[in-house]
Amino acid sequence: MTTKSEGILLVLSSPSGAGKTTILERLLEQSTDLVRSVSVTTRKPRLGEVNGKDYFFVTEEKFHELCKAGQMLEYAKVFENFYGIPKDFIEQNLSNGISVLLSIDWQGAFHLFKLMREKIVSIFILPPSMEELRLRLQRRNSDSASEIERRLAEAQKEMNKRDKYDYIIINDNIDKSIEEISSILAKERLKRSKEKL
Ligand code: 5GP
Repeated sequence: MTTKSEGILLVLSSPSGAGKTTILERLLEQSTDLVRSVSVTTRKPRLGEVNGKDYFFVTEEKFHELCKAGQMLEYAKVFENFYGIPKDFIEQNLSNGISVLLSIDWQGAFHLFKLMREKIVSIFILPPSMEELRLRLQRRNSDSASEIERRLAEAQKEMNKRDKYDYIIINDNIDKSIEEISSILAKERLKRSKEKL
């Protein structure tokens, strides 16, 4: 008997500097049945960002058109720009059994929990410690001391929400974190396919 389960919406959140981007890229590289959701934004592309890969960059007018047409699963205004998750992309993949990875902050994640909790597996990625997070941000060498302090305060706020996630992972080793996430996904897929029998 073959039973095809729906894909899982894998929601990953973490404070910046915890290593989420590397984990995410490696996870996508090694999985054939996992795709990344690309959000739509009215923000201007940063140097090196690619339309369709990092975001779909649109005008504010187009963004509002998409919202009006019901094509956003959720959206938010962050600072001066709008960001939204394209609904069709997520729904089509999930119904074809493909899981979708969404990297989003806690506010976006909580919004999605209200909309479709049963389709979501959520993972919060923690840095090994605040001290390590500070070192990682300093090593990136891209931010001033005051910017680093601001990011650390933001990180603490973000981390205070971790208990609402299904799983918490401490990223003290990238390979171990990837293994943990892969086994969570495998376990959750199995659980869902058993529920369908
Ligand atoms: P950035 O402009 O630095 O790429 O992203 C700014 C913020 O927007 C980040 O906190 C990011 O998590 C959030 N963001 C990106 N895409 C979405 C989305 O589709 N929905 C929501 N609610 N937030 C998003």
